[in-house]
Amino acid sequence: MTATATALEIAQALLRCPSVTPADAGALGVLEALLKDAGFATHRVTFSEPGTADIDNLYARIGDAAPHLCFAGHTDVVPPGDDSAWSHGAFSGDVADGLLYGRGAVDMKGGIACAVAATLDYLAAHDGKAKGSISFLITGDEEDVAVNGTVKLLQWAAERGETFDHCIVGEPSNVEAIGDTIKIGRRGSQSGVLIVDGQQGHVAYPHRAANPIPDIAALITALNDEPLDQGSAQFQPSNLAFTSVDVGNPATNVIPAQARAKFNIRFNDHHTQESLRALVEQRLAAACGNRIRARIEWLPSNADVFVTKPGGFTDLVSASIANITGRTPELNTGGGTSDARFIAKYCPVVEFGLVGQTMHQIDERTPVSDLDKLTAIYRGVLERYFR
Ligand SMILES: [Zn+2]
Repeated sequence: MTATATALEIAQALLRCPSVTPADAGALGVLEALLKDAGFATHRVTFSEPGTADIDNLYARIGDAAPHLCFAGHTDVVPPGDDSAWSHGAFSGDVADGLLYGRGAVDMKGGIACAVAATLDYLAAHDGKAKGSISFLITGDEEDVAVNGTVKLLQWAAERGETFDHCIVGEPSNVEAIGDTIKIGRRGSQSGVLIVDGQQGHVAYPHRAANPIPDIAALITALNDEPLDQGSAQFQPSNLAFTSVDVGNPATNVIPAQARAKFNIRFNDHHTQESLRALVEQRLAAACGNRIRARIEWLPSNADVFVTKPGGFTDLVSASIANITGRTPELNTGGGTSDARFIAKYCPVVEFGLVGQTMHQIDERTPVSDLDKLTAIYRGVLERYFR
């Protein structure tokens, strides 16, 4: 491929690498070669962790001045599932009827291909230089356990003295059509287990036992019924959802000694993990009174809430989107977590990429015309950013 490679060509080269986590299968090499040719300083960084596979990552930067715009993403993909169910091979990169097929077409090799194509085109039009810096922070470890990926790559970059002013993650943010949605944040996630201790006993002698089941039912109702908040400017209300209730009791004539209930909370920017835990524990204590013995075991979480407040940077991305698609994107904070939550600790970050409809599905695909539009949008972002 050459420095004028199109997004389609780059996407096809990436899709033909079967980079199911933790395999790289040559995917990062495709990007590294293109970026190096365009004058980027490139670094391949491998991270390890006991019990997990070593994972290769790529950091590439051109320019050494501010402002510094970073494109971030992942080249690993989820498994294809039943290969024979695909109408075009999961790693074929075939185009049929204007649609590009392959695992990762939208999540998110297609998005990365557009960012690289837009950058190469921008540099070619500006004597090979940006008025500032452009970088690519690409991991091979997002879809699975994600321990040897973005978190460590950001730490590695920080230790080298790298600072970022803004970041775009090319995850498939759009719901129906390209340009409909920019993700500017995500809710945090915190899981826990509610444990109620009773006293085991024979069902015929309940006065000698303490049944934790009615008690846990009452506590579940109490925690479930009281809203955590009413939502905020950028977020829907936080919600607490119980996901299982367990006593593990095989007998019908024994009152169990303990009952447990698992729950997950998706929380908005009214809370931090600490304040949220304190709030729930305070409500639990009130519901228990002096009678019920209950506690919560909180599970570790690295999913903090984050938001990039609407302003200059989101306006700039929105303007480029409107210019190419005629749409005014919604600034959204719904959905699950992504690596953007880690990047948000370093600089303002938005997610904008292709349309997510077929992600993780058989026949994952994107219209080739969407690749062209996304490339033009990123190109417009670069032009506006380095004005
Ligand atoms: Zn993804």
